Amino acid sequence: MPHVLEPAPSGRAKCRGCGRPIALGELRFGERIPNPFADGETTLWFHTVCAAYKRPEPLLQALEGALSVPEREPLERDARRTLEHRRLPRIDGAERAPSGQAKCRCCKQPIAKGTWRIRLVYFEEGRFTPGGCVHVACRRVYFETDDGLERVLRFSPGLSDEERAELTKAWGEPTG
Ligand SMILES: [Zn+2]
Ligand SMILES: [Zn+2]
Repeated sequence: MPHVLEPAPSGRAKCRGCGRPIALGELRFGERIPNPFADGETTLWFHTVCAAYKRPEPLLQALEGALSVPEREPLERDARRTLEHRRLPRIDGAERAPSGQAKCRCCKQPIAKGTWRIRLVYFEEGRFTPGGCVHVACRRVYFETDDGLERVLRFSPGLSDEERAELTKAWGEPTG
């Protein structure tokens, strides 16, 4: 079965990208994958923007086969931009480090308690698996682009407005 682009028939499905519900009637992307637990296939649902950020290849395949998609151009642009940098799909939001124990996947140095770090995930066998963190200051080296703030904010739905403002400020500080 091909991938799916359709208006959500209910508001119950959660997006695999950001974890939030997909609203009734909102265009959603369904990635068809072999069912890891049984015969046949299963569908992973995403907000279209979340798919452009985390699953660009199957989203582009679905867009190719779709007749009329209102947001086609920005979605294609975001998905192609994601494909240009192989590590961008790993962005899974940001948080203040709850301890000083984790090491940065980029510079291998500890991430100090209370400082902002970007969470990474890897898509394997139909699921996103946590894969450590990088310093906000290491993002340009690690992702090979500075095109990440919108993604980080999107995948951090638990942050308050104040925290979002702090993260945005930390993003703007010189990285040395
Ligand atoms: Zn989402
Ligand atoms: Zn680092």
